[in-house]
Amino acid sequence: MDNNLDLLIKKLFPENLPSPAELEIKYPPRQLAETAMVTRVAPSPTGFVHFGGLYASLISKRLAHQSNGVFILRIEDTDKKREVEGTAELFANSLKQYSIINDEGLNEKTEEKGSYGPYKQSERSDIYHAYIKYLLQQGKAYPCFASTEELEALRAQQENMGERSGYYGHFATWREKSVEEALEALEKGLKPVIRLKSPGNFQNKIMVDDLLIGRREMPENDQDIVIMKTDGLPTYHFAHAVDDHLMRTTHVIRGNEWFPSLPLHLQLFSVLGWQAPAYAHLAPIQKMDNGNKRKLSKRKDQEADLSYYKKAGYPEEAVIEYLLNLANSNFEDWRRENPNANNEEFVLSLKKLAKSNGPLFDLIKLTDISKEVIAKMSAEEVFTHTLNWAKEFNQNLAKRLEADTTYAKQILNIERENAVKPRKDIAKWSDIEDEISYFYDDSLNVNSALKKEILNEIGNNEVKLIISDFLAIYDIKDEQEEWFNKLKTVAEKHGYASNNKEYKASPDKYKGQVGAVAKLIRILLTGRTQTPNLCAIMQVMRQERIKKRLNNI
Ligand code: GLU
Repeated sequence: MDNNLDLLIKKLFPENLPSPAELEIKYPPRQLAETAMVTRVAPSPTGFVHFGGLYASLISKRLAHQSNGVFILRIEDTDKKREVEGTAELFANSLKQYSIINDEGLNEKTEEKGSYGPYKQSERSDIYHAYIKYLLQQGKAYPCFASTEELEALRAQQENMGERSGYYGHFATWREKSVEEALEALEKGLKPVIRLKSPGNFQNKIMVDDLLIGRREMPENDQDIVIMKTDGLPTYHFAHAVDDHLMRTTHVIRGNEWFPSLPLHLQLFSVLGWQAPAYAHLAPIQKMDNGNKRKLSKRKDQEADLSYYKKAGYPEEAVIEYLLNLANSNFEDWRRENPNANNEEFVLSLKKLAKSNGPLFDLIKLTDISKEVIAKMSAEEVFTHTLNWAKEFNQNLAKRLEADTTYAKQILNIERENAVKPRKDIAKWSDIEDEISYFYDDSLNVNSALKKEILNEIGNNEVKLIISDFLAIYDIKDEQEEWFNKLKTVAEKHGYASNNKEYKASPDKYKGQVGAVAKLIRILLTGRTQTPNLCAIMQVMRQERIKKRLNNI
């Protein structure tokens, strides 16, 4: 090799680096079945976890595991300016929280697992340098010392001339400079970036294949993109190619904002002499905004931030089922046909993912799914989930639940475990506080407007008589039928029809019907007109509390 080139490379990379051949041995092809998919999710830790990030992770994990493959979490932290500390761990934690367990990469304890690591790009400098050195040796890359001012001037010039912007063709001045000129610049203490010497021609059209978008004609890449920045770290484009090759990724599933970069990425694989993985670019989740669809946006929508679901207390399982629903619309039918199956049994199909028009986000749908998910839980499960949530987000509720766990579980079991139709009115753990508040004396509004209204309507004395007659025969052990018969007996005695039909037949004969008496008792006991089954509520409330509340007129 040219001695000066050798010298230049030594100056750029004085450290001992592995050779590409050694890296091939260190990260050998995986011993997996041919149909096994190796997928990865590769977040940049730049803030919070986007709902779409969980969507892509779920799809990548399911497709890998369904095919007995491998799912990797790789942290793409080479843009140190944009990095927000702690977000890599936040991402790992979120995957764990939603049971999207990665086989390799960072786990929530910030340890790494797997033998294709390190899985944080900032810890892979040696690997990237090894390939950059190789490309320099091959004349497929070159150092560029153009200053920020020069690049700005170039951009302005291109704009004036109506040319495409970028560092390419005859605009790429350092492409043609000699090794000696580069050495001189280094002598002056200038720091270069390393650029790819693109072999492409923009006038050439190439066909690119995407598993979702299909086959498209695109111009070849001719930009001499930066592959290594002045800080020695690689750019995303370069690092992803190296990583996906060495980690033996078979399928890159990522947001379609990367689709325009596909010609560049395929070129990088080709320049490095590797076979590119298959690509599937996901259409982003959308949202209705004033009658128009737009991307779910981290600036505009609180639902774009994964922490929103945690704070609101949506069960993880509901969020996952909702995402499955967004991914494959046949999930809904599958769920209907398999009401009690674990959603892991659903076979996710890559082909059935949205092709170009992303799925539409709908909080009402998530709420409905969540109600179904919670309806299937035992009281114990609801209690545990609610308590865990409350410890983090609602201390008062946590204290209340812990003060008398038996009472709390009985409350949560109303219309649940033995119910023919379990209640479906709870969508998230934050709903529970209000749902159970009237069971606790310190949060029952004893002088509510509703109560005043019904006392006025029936008359205080009459109410007292009805209540005393009811309490005389009511027994806490009464089940629904007996309970209702007793209510009817009292209603009839006080001039109310025992059913609606009788009342409708001769309304003048009655003051009303049994429902009015039930309403009275419901309001006195709960302060509300709408509650789950009143007989069940009374059994849970216990005799003493019932007496106290009913007599508090
Ligand atoms: N780090 C990239 C991002 O956060 C990942 C793109 C990819 O999956 O290749 O958008």
